Amino acid sequence: MALIVLAALIVAAAILLALRARRLAQPLPADVDPAAPLAPGDLLRLRRWERRLRRVFWIIGSVYLALVGASLGGLEAPPDRLALVLTLFGATCLLGAMIQFSERCPRCGYNLGFQSRLLLPESCERCGGRYR
Ligand SMILES: [Zn+2]
Repeated sequence: MALIVLAALIVAAAILLALRARRLAQPLPADVDPAAPLAPGDLLRLRRWERRLRRVFWIIGSVYLALVGASLGGLEAPPDRLALVLTLFGATCLLGAMIQFSERCPRCGYNLGFQSRLLLPESCERCGGRYR
């Protein structure tokens, strides 16, 4: 079971890297101006996305720490602990990926999840437009 989850994670990472490379190789549309300032609504939306990512990171991290603490504290582990851990790990990876890949560059449409893990990047990797 653990090998299947590991293989799925490796395949998912390879697919994401291939999608990222493909998207970066596409030419920018002619109407994209990286020097143009972002609309206030776009900037607010990007900030909300960044806050949501950090909030989910802290919540998931707290849950993992609580589980490790409970495990070290001598609480009885359920009999199918490995399945529970893998299910929790898969669900949190899926939730994190859904939030991380939910936002795009307002200028060129490049997915911000490809270039950032937890924070809003300084600029877009594809069009070079600044976010801050
Ligand atoms: Zn962009």
